[in-house]
Amino acid sequence: MRVVVAGGSGFLGSHLCEALLSRGDSVCCLDNFSSGRAANIAHLLAAPGFECITCDVTARFRVLGHVDAVAHLASPASPYDYHNHPLETLAAGSRGTENLLQLALRHRARFVLASTSEVYGDPQVHPQDEDYWGHVNPIGPRSVYDEAKRYAEALTMAYRRTRDADAGIVRIFNTYGPRMRAHDGRVVSTFVRQALDGQALTLYGDGSQTRSFCYVEDMVRGLTAMIDSPHPGPFNLGNPRERTVRELAELVLLLTGSPGGLRFLPLPVDDPVRRRPVIDRAHAELGWHPQVPLDEGLRRTLAWCAEQPEPRVPPSDR
Ligand code: NAD
Ligand code: UDP
Repeated sequence: MRVVVAGGSGFLGSHLCEALLSRGDSVCCLDNFSSGRAANIAHLLAAPGFECITCDVTARFRVLGHVDAVAHLASPASPYDYHNHPLETLAAGSRGTENLLQLALRHRARFVLASTSEVYGDPQVHPQDEDYWGHVNPIGPRSVYDEAKRYAEALTMAYRRTRDADAGIVRIFNTYGPRMRAHDGRVVSTFVRQALDGQALTLYGDGSQTRSFCYVEDMVRGLTAMIDSPHPGPFNLGNPRERTVRELAELVLLLTGSPGGLRFLPLPVDDPVRRRPVIDRAHAELGWHPQVPLDEGLRRTLAWCAEQPEPRVPPSDR
């Protein structure tokens, strides 16, 4: 197969490119390097079957040659990134999704949209299965991301219904692992960086809000299974083991032995209180379930982060 991975130099995208190449697929990575990094794919550049095109998927771009599948991961993804780039985030979900759907349609290729648990907003139903329609503030600070992904889902289903596109949706829950940017503002990367630097871990609110953290290797297995499947989804992909953010902080402190302790800061506006995926559908249809427990995934992430040469504390750190 030749797979186009839009957002392929990002955190998830680079792991997906690697997994596809290692099973023998060719990969065409499309990325504007807004939050992606050349270092994430540097080791792939010499691999047979890999190419990278620097482009913005919301504008005009060209992919030469045949395409068997398109995976759309190109979007600002951390709250820090989408707060700083609200219009680009809306464009990635709207124009970016339409451009990539068109590309897939021209080649009669499989299309997979990397949607998000954020389509459920601050959920009123717990845990969340795919039939829940969500509880999103359409004008709040997170809405540029949540609504862009909801629109992207609607567009994907419209192409499926009206153009017979072989298109499907996965809703990704919080995923972590090597290649997260130390300063992307997400909770795992932030705690890991702070702990490695011996700083206090910044807990927003009282830390009682919950998330379910999935290791990147598990997530990439789910994404490849969806690329191979003809199913429309949507499928929740995430680890159903729910943790409070405080529990996560304490585990990071334990694993690193950091003396930094905790520092409490105000909870951001519209921060979801609870989040846990029901993954029965992905298990039944894709044969997928996560395997890497949080402590093991954190150990691997910590080992990778500790090796990184980049300075972990910029002056503008929030
Ligand atoms: P990331 O920021 O590391 O990757 C996004 C990639 O897309 C980057 O390489 C960036 O440069 C690229 N990009 C952004 N806009 C682009 C554009 N207009 N044209 C071309 N390239 C563009 O983030 P990630 O965590 O790897 O997320 C990948 C995808 O998965 C995103 O669509 C995100 O919404 C989704 N997702 C991720 C998580 C998670 O926990 N990591 C959770 C839910 C959904
Ligand atoms: N969070 C925190 N400290 C941080 C960063 C995040 O307590 O330094 C909290 C944040 O308020 C949220 C949870 O951790 O409740 C997950 O945040 P993240 O930005 O990683 O993902 P999302 O909110 O999109 O699930």
